[in-house]
Amino acid sequence: MSEFDYDLFVIGAGSGGVRCARMASTYGAKVAVAEEYRVGGTCVIRGCVPKKLMVYASKFAHDFEDSAGFGWSVDEPSFDWSKLISRKDAEIDRLNGLYIKNLERNNVEIIQTRAEIVGPNSVRLLGENRTVSARHILIATGGVPNELHVPGKELMITSNEVFHLEEKPDRVVVVGAGYIALEFACIFHGLGSEVTVLYRGDEILRGFDEDIRTTLHEEMEKRGITIHCHDEVDELTKTDDGIRVKTTAEREIMADQVLCAIGRSPNSNGLGLETAGVEISANGAIKVDEHNRTNVDHIFAVGDVIDRVTLTPVAIREGAALAETFFNGNPTTVDYENIATAVFTQPEIGTVGMTEAEARVAHENLDIYLAKFRPMKNTLAGNDEKMLMKVIVDADNDKVLGCHILGPDSGEMSQLLGIAIKMGATKADFDATMAVHPTAAEELVTMKEPTSRIRKGA
Ligand code: FAD
Ligand code: NDP
Repeated sequence: MSEFDYDLFVIGAGSGGVRCARMASTYGAKVAVAEEYRVGGTCVIRGCVPKKLMVYASKFAHDFEDSAGFGWSVDEPSFDWSKLISRKDAEIDRLNGLYIKNLERNNVEIIQTRAEIVGPNSVRLLGENRTVSARHILIATGGVPNELHVPGKELMITSNEVFHLEEKPDRVVVVGAGYIALEFACIFHGLGSEVTVLYRGDEILRGFDEDIRTTLHEEMEKRGITIHCHDEVDELTKTDDGIRVKTTAEREIMADQVLCAIGRSPNSNGLGLETAGVEISANGAIKVDEHNRTNVDHIFAVGDVIDRVTLTPVAIREGAALAETFFNGNPTTVDYENIATAVFTQPEIGTVGMTEAEARVAHENLDIYLAKFRPMKNTLAGNDEKMLMKVIVDADNDKVLGCHILGPDSGEMSQLLGIAIKMGATKADFDATMAVHPTAAEELVTMKEPTSRIRKGA
C-alpha cells in the first residue's frame, strides 16, 4: 500500500495536464486530475478550437465576394449568430465529452472542483471539502486574461466571454494587437461587424517579422478594419448608444463590445504555492528546471503557468516529457527551438524560425528572399490582396534560418516548413525540391536571387 492516495495529482485538465495524466496512468501510476471549469482547458473550451470554428465562419463573407469573379451569383447572404454559437457550443460539448472519456478509459480519476495545495503532499478539493495526498503534484493551471485598469473597465470583455455573446455586436473595439486581438478583429469583421483596433505601439504583432507585420496591417485595413497605433483606451462609459471609448489620442469611438486582448498571465494565484514553498517569478510564472520540476522536489508545472511558450502543442509536449521522465524512466526534455506558429488572421500568418531582425543580431551574413504577389485565385476574384513569403538564409552555410508567410493556408505551410527547418534544411535543399504547380507554396522553392544581401561590416 502506498502512503499516498495518488502517485500523481494533476491540478488543471487542460492541454498539458490531460496529456501528462493520461500518459502517467498508462505507465502504471495512480492518477487523479482536478478541474474547476471544464475538462479540455482553454484550448478546447475557450481558445484554439472555438476560435478556429469562428475563423471558418467568418471567412465565408470573403469567399462569397470572390465567387462572383468565377461566375457565381450569390443572393445577399445572411448570417445567423445564434446558430453559429449553438453549433459551436455543441461541438465543444462533444470534444469535452471525448476528453472525459479518454481520461476515464486511461483510468484517470476526474475530480470536478477547484484544487489548492495545502501541504507538501496535500491537495485540498474545495468543492468536495476534503483533502487528498499525492506523491507527485503537477500544476497545469494555464493562464488568465490580463485586465486593463482604466475607468469603466468592467464594460470590457476578454476572450473568456467573447465565445458566449448573445448577439453579434455591430461595432467592436479591440484593444491590443497580438494573437487574440487580431484574430478576433478579423473574425468580427468577417461576420459583418465594424471593427476598430487600438494598439499602444508602432506596429501590430510585435515580435513577428517586420514585413509580415506591415503587410498584415495593410491588408487588414484594405479589408475595412480600422487600426489606430499609438493609441490606448483612456476611459469607457456606458451610454444609450452603447459603450463610448475615449482614447489617449483623444478619439471617441462608439462600440457594442470592447474586447480587451492585452496578453495573459500565469494562473498561479491562490494555489497555495507559498504554503508549499514553490518559487514563482515576478509575473507569477512558476519556475521550473528543464524537467519541469519546481524548486520543491515532487511538485512540477507545465504549460501556460510556466510562461515559456504559451501554445497548446508546447503544453502537450511538456506534459508528455514529464510523464516520460518520471513515470517511464525515460528522461525527456522539450526542444523549444524553431517552433512553428500560425496567427489565424485574414490573411493568415504562418511562421517558423528567426525573424530578419533576430537573424541580423545572431548572424553576420544573410541572404533574404522576399516575394510579394497576388495569389492566382485573386486574379479572377478581382481582389488585390497580396501574399507574402520571406525566407531568411545564413549566407555563410546556406542554412534556412526562418520562413514567414502571409496569405491563405500559411498556417498549414508553416507546419511542413517546421520539419524542414528542424532538420537543418539549406536554401539549396529548398531549390532542389521540385515545385508543386500551380500552388502558392511553390514560390518557396523557386526564389532564385536574394532580394537583399546583408554582409558583415557592409
Ligand atoms: P489550460 O489549457 O489553460 O488549462 C488549465 C486548466 O486548469 C483550465 O481548464 C482551468 O480551468 C484549470 N484550473 C485552473 N486553476 C485550477 C485549480 N486551482 N483547480 C482546478 N482546475 C484549475 N494556442 C495554440 O497553440 N493555437 C491557437 O490557435 C491558440 N488559440 C488561442 C485562442 C485563445 C482565445 C486563447 C485564450 C488561447 C489560445 N491558445 C492557442 C493558447 C492555448 O490555449 C494555451 O497555450 C493552452 O491551452 C495552455 O494549456 P495549459 O495546459 O497550460 O492550460
Ligand atoms: P499577446 O502577447 O500575443 O498580445 C498582447 C497584446 O496586448 C500586444 O499587442 C501588447 O502590446 C498589448 N498589450 C499588452 N499590455 C498592454 C497594456 N497594458 N495596454 C495596452 N496594450 C497592451 O497576447 P494575447 O492575449 O493576444 O494572447 C496570449 C497568448 O496566447 C499568445 O501570446 C499566444 O502564445 C497564445 N495564443 C496563440 C494563438 C495561436 O497560436 N494562433 C491564438 C491566440 C493566443 P505590446 O506588443 O506593445 O506589448
